[in-house]
Amino acid sequence: MSRLPDFPVEGGCACGSLRYRLNAPPIAVYTCHCTDCQSLTGSAFSMAMPVFRKDFEITRGEPGSWPRKATSGTVIPQRFCPQCGARIFTEPPGGPHSLTIRPGTLDDTSWLHPVSAFWVKSAQSWVRFADDVLQYETQPTDFTPVMKAWKAWIEG
Ligand SMILES: [Zn+2]
Ligand SMILES: [Zn+2]
Repeated sequence: MSRLPDFPVEGGCACGSLRYRLNAPPIAVYTCHCTDCQSLTGSAFSMAMPVFRKDFEITRGEPGSWPRKATSGTVIPQRFCPQCGARIFTEPPGGPHSLTIRPGTLDDTSWLHPVSAFWVKSAQSWVRFADDVLQYETQPTDFTPVMKAWKAWIEG
């Protein structure tokens, strides 16, 4: 695990009133280029870092929540800082993980390395992917290859 920092690591919103701690390594780090992520971030893509709920704790503040309906119809609660509006995490129902952090909110982002890219078909035309990035036209139905790619990366 030489490519990972020592845990716990901490992060928070842009104004500092919402803070969190992650006590163990994430399950994966990937980017999503779907049009929802583009409008949610006001940018080209979002970064996502699924973690186990038990490893995550809010240490300051109380996140707000709004229910975003995905194209699939699934409702995914979006949790954000009520003061500055920064989106901190989402709570996808089911799946191999129960909580997805927006890892740009970490205090130290130097170790983040997306191993996969979702919704490549709607990626902005200037975006380039490294050869070792697992690319999906939309999103994987099976998350296992993404977790394996992450494990391979962190073990170097
Ligand atoms: Zn804030
Ligand atoms: Zn997306």
